[in-house]
Amino acid sequence: MNARKKSILETLDSNWITTGPKVKKFEELFSNYIGCKHSIALNSCTAALHLSLLVNNISKDDEVIIPIMTFAATANVVIHCNAKPVFCDINPETLNIDVNKIEKLITKKTKAIIPVHIAGQPCEMDTINYLANKYNLKIIEDAAHATEAYYKGKKIGFENISCFSFYATKNITTAEGGMLTTNNDLIAEKVRILSLHGMSKDAWKRYSNEGYKHYDIIYPGFKYNMTDIQASLGICQLEKINNFLKRRNEIKKLYDNLLSEVEEISVIKEIDNIVHARHLYIIKLSENIDRDKFMNQLINQNIGVSVHFLPLHFHSYYKKTFNLKNEDFPNATNVGNRILSLPFYPKLKDDEVIYITDKIKEIINNSYIS
Ligand SMILES: *Cc1c(COP(=O)(O)O)cnc(C)c1O
Repeated sequence: MNARKKSILETLDSNWITTGPKVKKFEELFSNYIGCKHSIALNSCTAALHLSLLVNNISKDDEVIIPIMTFAATANVVIHCNAKPVFCDINPETLNIDVNKIEKLITKKTKAIIPVHIAGQPCEMDTINYLANKYNLKIIEDAAHATEAYYKGKKIGFENISCFSFYATKNITTAEGGMLTTNNDLIAEKVRILSLHGMSKDAWKRYSNEGYKHYDIIYPGFKYNMTDIQASLGICQLEKINNFLKRRNEIKKLYDNLLSEVEEISVIKEIDNIVHARHLYIIKLSENIDRDKFMNQLINQNIGVSVHFLPLHFHSYYKKTFNLKNEDFPNATNVGNRILSLPFYPKLKDDEVIYITDKIKEIINNSYIS
């Protein structure tokens, strides 16, 4: 039996299936991996983002700057705090937030920025840190894609409150799950309390052998805790994280080589002085190719492609509620119709990558003939 199955079965046979010793161990291992003081395991990255905003007292009338091209959760958590997401256009070459467009979005109401490290490439944090200092803003990093990433020699997750995802498709997974990291003792304590109903003592301490302790509710909290079953998966995944990354780096190089001669395809630019977490392999099609048709042709060949992400102003809710217009986000509007993500996971074999790129070339050639 493999280590993962053994670890889950061990947990099932133990006296703990929900938040207990495995969660504690996973948090310790994750803190060691990141090099941070506190890691708090939660049931999703979305929960981590939500609590990050709450512990920074983000509330009604506050504004939070986020990139227009991100997953819905980045915006939704701001809305759930009754605050207003203020959307920033992206850099069309890196797909990350355009740091040159942030400053003019800052108002007296701006309280925080949520940089999202798209595909695993860190944002230009020097500029974001500079602006945050200048205007006294909090930085909450959406590091859902960036568990392995470094920016200028510093591990992502070390400097600010950072939120990681262990959703099934992410670089490491607990099926569903997330982690919040911070070096701030007070923030860590508040997050822990909020994540479990607002109880002053968590369930683990409550049932320890020091005798029964009444719990006290000190805030109307949430049910955001991770279970030991999930953590036992996470512990095994963390052991393999470097091998997974190594393999995704190999696959990336192979894709790069095989697609380099295809004029209609460009890849995402990488900035200097980073370690890329290689979560996604995104390609950008030239404007003469219909992205959605192209994707459907690949899907017809059993090649699983997707889009990360449709910009938020392409979704009816954000468009209507915040009165967003294509011309306000020229880069995201253009790129949002041209990008797609190719299959990209450690088990993908070289000959599968070759098959995928052969099909891509075939579809592009045929699109000229017809
Ligand atoms: C996956 C993802 C999330 C949400 O992660 P969950 O663990 O599913 O809540 C947030 N932001 C980005 C950019 C993501 O890709």
